[in-house]
Amino acid sequence: MYIDSHAHLFVEEYRADRDDVIHRARSAGVDRIVVPGTTLETSREAVALAEQYDLVFAAVGFHPHDAANASDEGLSEIEELSAHEKVVAIGEIGLDFHYDFSPRDVQQQVFEKQIAIAVRRDLPIIVHTRESILEAMLIVGQVALSTPKWKKRSASAAGDLVATRGVFHCFSGDTEQCKRLFELGFFVSYPGIVTFKNSPVIETIKSIGVRNLLIETDSPYMTPVPFRGKRNEPAHVRLVAETISEALELSVTEVAVRTSANATLLFDLPEIRGSNNGGE
Ligand SMILES: [Zn+2]
Ligand SMILES: [Zn+2]
Repeated sequence: MYIDSHAHLFVEEYRADRDDVIHRARSAGVDRIVVPGTTLETSREAVALAEQYDLVFAAVGFHPHDAANASDEGLSEIEELSAHEKVVAIGEIGLDFHYDFSPRDVQQQVFEKQIAIAVRRDLPIIVHTRESILEAMLIVGQVALSTPKWKKRSASAAGDLVATRGVFHCFSGDTEQCKRLFELGFFVSYPGIVTFKNSPVIETIKSIGVRNLLIETDSPYMTPVPFRGKRNEPAHVRLVAETISEALELSVTEVAVRTSANATLLFDLPEIRGSNNGGE
């Protein structure tokens, strides 16, 4: 029913009870979890989790925090990993000008190099921005315009071509920025911050609707109300869907169906099999 489009299940916080976390997600109706790596090491761990659990899919890439460690060898390894059958995106990649853990020019170069991998492999990207939305939009916009074939395919029997190039996750931009991203073939995704009191993103969601919307937990971070302050987990993606359904005056089912269809299209996820969607 739900797809958690962004959860870092490899982190130490899940070492003791990862099986239980995944079991609870399944019980809460989460059919798919996309696990984005943040370093070479955690990208490998994301792929290993995807091999272990049928509902887990991986993304591989260097987070902007770790851009300074992204050697050419490391980037080649990311490209090799991206050929794995359960790797569905390059991510999470992007720019973080709030923490500036890596120098900004290095962040930009590594972002561009990883977008180039995505273009070569015809994969979508999972983009992280913080105080860097305009800069990141400029970069993806230039690539989208110069490589129009990137992730463009017919989405209907009528042969309409749509681009599904990536998602700006945990997005804090305004409605105009969302619309520009949609024109470029991008989606936006929201985690538990939608449940925080007076969250400004709710107004944005009201004006953009569900057409290019994904939901996520960003586990173990961004824990929704009423669990705020505790460790997050994919089962809580339901709370994100419920808050969005209230804001948009849609049923929770409608929000789940639409956001899952968007994530399935974006990440080229396989059809969900019958009730026995078992695994570990
Ligand atoms: Zn992020
Ligand atoms: Zn993340």
